[in-house]
Amino acid sequence: MKRRTRKRIPTRPVMVGGVGIGGAHGISVQSMTNTDTADIAATVGQIKALEDAGCDIARIAVPDMEAAAAIPAIKRAVSIPIVADIHFDYRLALESIRNGVDKVRINPGNIGGADNVRKLAEAARARGIPIRVGVNAGSLERGLLERHGGATAAALAESALAQSEMLNLCGFYDIVVSLKASDVFLAVDACRLFAKKNTGLPQHVGMTEAGTEVIGAVRSAIGISSLLRDGIGDTVRVSLTGDPVQEVLAARELLRTLGLREGGVRLISCPTCGRCKYDLVGVANEVGRRVSAIRTDRSLTVAVMGCAVNGPGEAREADVGVAGGVGKAVLFRRGELKCHVPEDRLVEALMDEIADL
Ligand code: SF4
Repeated sequence: MKRRTRKRIPTRPVMVGGVGIGGAHGISVQSMTNTDTADIAATVGQIKALEDAGCDIARIAVPDMEAAAAIPAIKRAVSIPIVADIHFDYRLALESIRNGVDKVRINPGNIGGADNVRKLAEAARARGIPIRVGVNAGSLERGLLERHGGATAAALAESALAQSEMLNLCGFYDIVVSLKASDVFLAVDACRLFAKKNTGLPQHVGMTEAGTEVIGAVRSAIGISSLLRDGIGDTVRVSLTGDPVQEVLAARELLRTLGLREGGVRLISCPTCGRCKYDLVGVANEVGRRVSAIRTDRSLTVAVMGCAVNGPGEAREADVGVAGGVGKAVLFRRGELKCHVPEDRLVEALMDEIADL
């Protein structure tokens, strides 16, 4: 993972397994499985798919002791760090920590008070793992809601601060915070307010309950990019209702677009119109699916274009590009016209050129 050069609010680094969050570490991409965690085969399969898509850290729900018991087997089968997501019962967190999880995410609104937090802090410190304090507008402490007149940005920031200070009082400092809300601007304001408190704690940024793929990706892009451009955010999750692999692809694209993460293949494709005389949508979707699995530190651009209007220009600018004709396309490589390719060979021809580069 390349480091970003953009100005960033300084934070204290923590390690989640082998992945650093905060400090000089690059911005990591997270996602969360939606399998039954106790179904080890299904959960491992999904985490491996997330790994293949470029996920750095995977979170799993631990709603009961069966899920916590699955952690050792899941850990043995996957390569990326695993975070246990805990609500309501701190004993599930303790069991997850005992079973080797790399980080625990707790929600201060529902974990049950200072005694439970202290027990968690002691267990996490003994294992050398961090805790994420995950504050959510939908589950803020009642006292805060009453004092602030609802789930305001100030209430979210105060909750995150109080909970991290409670951990600090237990001598625990390996903390990541997140302040989330389904309202994009509420979440952004809360993260900004918390950053102004200068705690030095790294922030996990994302919009919760953001929505289905298109809606969620748009809302997440607005919220997360607003924060990252302010220098706030050390790890990100794009939350989508759907396949978590899409969350990873969206998050990686977001970071790549902002210039905060290099490497991989960037696909550009025209929207098509009545001038397009080949199956550009099919070609672009298939190439997009295949290039998303390519792991490389190098940045490559691939262009799939419809016709002679903008096609040759964009295709020439890309590392590899095609500009369509009738049932065929012209293939360019690094600005040079290389050959004409029939429509049914286009995907393979593009992938061959990408592999060659
Ligand atoms: Fe239409 Fe050609 Fe532009 Fe694609 S490149 S949108 S086919 S004019």
